[in-house]
Amino acid sequence: MYKRTYIEGETKGATVRLICEVCKIEQKHNVVQSVRRKVEDDYDTALTEYEIVQCLNCDDLSFRKEYTDSNSADYDPEIDEVVYYSVIDVYPSRTAGRFRLKGIQHLPVKVRAAYEELIQALNGGQKILAGLGVRVLIEMICKDKNAEGGNLYKKIDDLVRMGVLAPAGSDILHKLRSMGNDSAHEARPSTSEQLNLAMDVVDNLLDSVYIHPKMAATVFPEK
Ligand SMILES: [Zn+2]
Repeated sequence: MYKRTYIEGETKGATVRLICEVCKIEQKHNVVQSVRRKVEDDYDTALTEYEIVQCLNCDDLSFRKEYTDSNSADYDPEIDEVVYYSVIDVYPSRTAGRFRLKGIQHLPVKVRAAYEELIQALNGGQKILAGLGVRVLIEMICKDKNAEGGNLYKKIDDLVRMGVLAPAGSDILHKLRSMGNDSAHEARPSTSEQLNLAMDVVDNLLDSVYIHPKMAATVFPEK
């Protein structure tokens, strides 16, 4: 026996808790729409809820998926009850609390691709890859701005010469660059503090070089 059915609205109106991408803390969310997929065979029944959820504080919408099946249950002797496990995915991803910049659609395609992979590595806890990702992202920015120089060190200095980057920013970028070097040559993971600071600097740079100028052009159009 194998049967697959879809039921609309089973969890519509329910309240679930998850971290809101805008509020950046856990908030109650209302299930606005849902579809349940039920898959049954001789041994197992699996349920997946596909839900569009809305933050009750800021109205922001997200997608939530929750999977459970009859095998994902364990007897817990301490409370003398059967406990069911579910697998919850939320999109856009927000697993480790590093959020994408607002306005990443204004980034050049290659810069954006490097940035998105960096966020994924960070949120997946992959610290070696994230350290490398910081370096790749800086290289992409240098390339996009046609920074000149035989190596990344010289290219970062060229960004300062062109006025793209403030001198104080270049000091930090040089540190981030060496962070990527450690990841590449010794597979040494960066610490969470280093990565967080790196991302603050990178976010600032992307904001000031790409995102804010584009937004300003939209908000204050030339007469
Ligand atoms: Zn919210």
